[in-house]
Amino acid sequence: MASPKRVALITGGGRGIGREIALALAREGCAVAVAARSREAVEAAAAAARRLGVEARPVALDVTDPVAVTRAVAETVETLGPVDVLVNNAGIAESAPLLKTEPELWERHFRVNVTGPYLMTRAVLAGMLERRWGRVINVASLAGLYGAPYVTAYTASKHALVGFTRALALEVAGKGVTVNAICPGYVATDLVWNAARTIEARTGKSFDEAVAAMARINPGGRLIEPAEVAAVAAKLLWDDGTNGETLILDGTPAA
Ligand code: NDP
Repeated sequence: MASPKRVALITGGGRGIGREIALALAREGCAVAVAARSREAVEAAAAAARRLGVEARPVALDVTDPVAVTRAVAETVETLGPVDVLVNNAGIAESAPLLKTEPELWERHFRVNVTGPYLMTRAVLAGMLERRWGRVINVASLAGLYGAPYVTAYTASKHALVGFTRALALEVAGKGVTVNAICPGYVATDLVWNAARTIEARTGKSFDEAVAAMARINPGGRLIEPAEVAAVAAKLLWDDGTNGETLILDGTPAA
């Protein structure tokens, strides 16, 4: 029997990891709603998904805005159908020593990286439970499991996202819905290029040296490709038995 069509909503889907996840889920046959603040980026990502032969919609969304979250989910349900797969991928990462971590920077990390996933999940969970099928995939980070210097706000927010994942996974266990976190090390996206620019501006290191230093921090000694993260999300789509896990991607070879 053919698998039913699934509808996936991916936050931060306009570029980087989120865009790759949207395209990977499209290749699995999902209709995809690609959401982020930048309209141009989500329109381009949705067009790329449509070229893979699935329905796709761009959705303008700031995940920190409860009204926009409700609207984005309603728009997706109206145009594509009920949301079966939610990928909480939108995130920000800024570095600063704690003494320069102002409350605004701290709170911004929690609003985007934690409150965003909470609002998004709350907006789709009831429908998933009713239909007894759902996937919530949270893109956390190795920073959700370990500490690193100069990123207290980011690290604390990603630890919170991992805690959210584990608690909700237990709450929905046995009800057809799974909730998991993907925890990559440094991935080759704008987020890392921006971090390298910050390191370049604050230290004597060149941009290339800063990128190389981040690659070396990954246990595999290399940057991870967005497509590798997307492959884990695609696997979770068809996996009924994984719930409450933190799936680590650190660049080490699988075998
Ligand atoms: P990018 O900076 O390339 O992409 C971030 C995405 O999030 C963009 O699409 C951005 O779109 C969106 N976004 C940011 N703020 C908001 C918001 N308030 N509302 C809606 N969308 C928002 O980063 P990555 O692709 O690297 O990161 C994706 C996720 O992966 C993040 O959660 C990040 O923490 C995590 N991660 C990244 C790693 C890395 O090394 N790159 C390592 C581990 C985890 P727009 O600005 O248009 O809104």
